[in-house]
Amino acid sequence: MKKFYVTTPIYYLNSVPHIGHAYTTLAADIINRYKKQKGEESYFLTGTDEHGANIEKSATNAGVTPQQWTDNMFAKFKEMWTDLDIKYDDIIRTTEPRHEAVVQAIFEKLLKTGDIYKGSYTGKYCMSCEAYLDESELVDGKCPIHKKEPQVISEETYFFKLSAYQDKLLKFYQDNPDFLSPKFRAAEIVNFVKGGLKDLSVSRTKVKWGVTVPSAPNHTIYVWFDALINYISAIGYGKKLGIPGYENYPHDMDNYWPADIHLIGKEIFRFHAVIWPAVLMALGLPLPKKVFAHGWWTVEGEKMSKSLGNFIDPRDITAKYGVEPLRYFIFREVPFGGDGDFSIEQFKKRFNSDLANDLGNLLSRVLNMAAKNIGTIPETFESESTLLKEAQRINAEYDKQMEELAFDKALDLAWGLIGKMNRYIDETKPWALAKTDLEKAKNILLELIFALRYVAAWIAPFMPNTSAEISKRLAAGEIQKYAPLFPRIEEVKK
Ligand SMILES: [Zn+2]
Repeated sequence: MKKFYVTTPIYYLNSVPHIGHAYTTLAADIINRYKKQKGEESYFLTGTDEHGANIEKSATNAGVTPQQWTDNMFAKFKEMWTDLDIKYDDIIRTTEPRHEAVVQAIFEKLLKTGDIYKGSYTGKYCMSCEAYLDESELVDGKCPIHKKEPQVISEETYFFKLSAYQDKLLKFYQDNPDFLSPKFRAAEIVNFVKGGLKDLSVSRTKVKWGVTVPSAPNHTIYVWFDALINYISAIGYGKKLGIPGYENYPHDMDNYWPADIHLIGKEIFRFHAVIWPAVLMALGLPLPKKVFAHGWWTVEGEKMSKSLGNFIDPRDITAKYGVEPLRYFIFREVPFGGDGDFSIEQFKKRFNSDLANDLGNLLSRVLNMAAKNIGTIPETFESESTLLKEAQRINAEYDKQMEELAFDKALDLAWGLIGKMNRYIDETKPWALAKTDLEKAKNILLELIFALRYVAAWIAPFMPNTSAEISKRLAAGEIQKYAPLFPRIEEVKK
């Protein structure tokens, strides 16, 4: 049976992981957890991109071999995922033999079909992008991302016949309107392709740290061509191609492919929405259902950059305030897809208002009153409660928003019900009501307890441990005494 298959980009190992990397990987984790919670088979792949001139350069500067460099950096990424409670199903490194052999087989296959051919190329090459840049892409003669002038270089190279796929790509975009997501980013890609596609240089003679072209060992395969293939090498394309040694590979590609979502940052949209689908078409494989390009995070209003030294390591925050408040904050604060700004003051405000007050206090109030007036939570509760009907209605709406990756809206729905519950308590005053009409007070408290169970389920993909803790406290049986869920952060600027 085909599993739901979600991927992150594989991260380039020339710098340490920061909140930008964490953002994409957390989003994939949330989707994967959500699907699994719904009882669906879901598979989440992440990984690292480990070849190319920039890795070579970083390793040389550090006085180590590229392999030592990537081993060390890979460990740092892996540690970050563990620290952020990210549960991927597989993590692939492009230096693994299971990947490299598939890249080589694909290259040779496309040489045979004529989709890859030998030629020579002269162009302006940005060393940091590891890509040739068109005149039209330059700003004041410089790479718009790295603000450096590209170098003019000339080399014998193999080309991928990207130009042959222009019309097929445009037709695909038209027939599959969900492929380019979010919709407001689609026009950029469509216009780029309509502007005309040039064949893509996919091998290098100057770069040693890369996958060798088997039939021309003085060439290594362009790092982007190599990297994109991870999405299928990890799930058993080698087995499907019949590469010797893959007979017992633990995955059958047809159970995963096509991918349901490739999650990426907007800076690599073209690679995933133009080059990758063309390669897949050349291989005769179906295309992913959706490529979703999210925005960038700025920090306190500034773009994150090496020169400003303002990269945020999420663990600076989680060490102080916990992992789950951060997982909550970044998906509640900014609509997924757009750009966002990370501000520590805003984080603290949301922590106090949303988590400590709205949710944490609600749970404490309800359980304290219930302990006093009910004592034991029953297994079931039959009621014509308006509150519980509202929870059921929101439940359907929540699923819709999660399917559309509108995480902020899904969380808004949860906090909408939390707000209603808090107002319901203020209006009905169960603590006072218990003195005059105990049965009615008990009924209100049970409505609140059973409605809170919905909230626990909705927040589970974002805050799995908080969700489990709430569920434990609300479980049937004798009500216990517990510490507050999120003690307030006191040092908040007014
Ligand atoms: Zn560049």
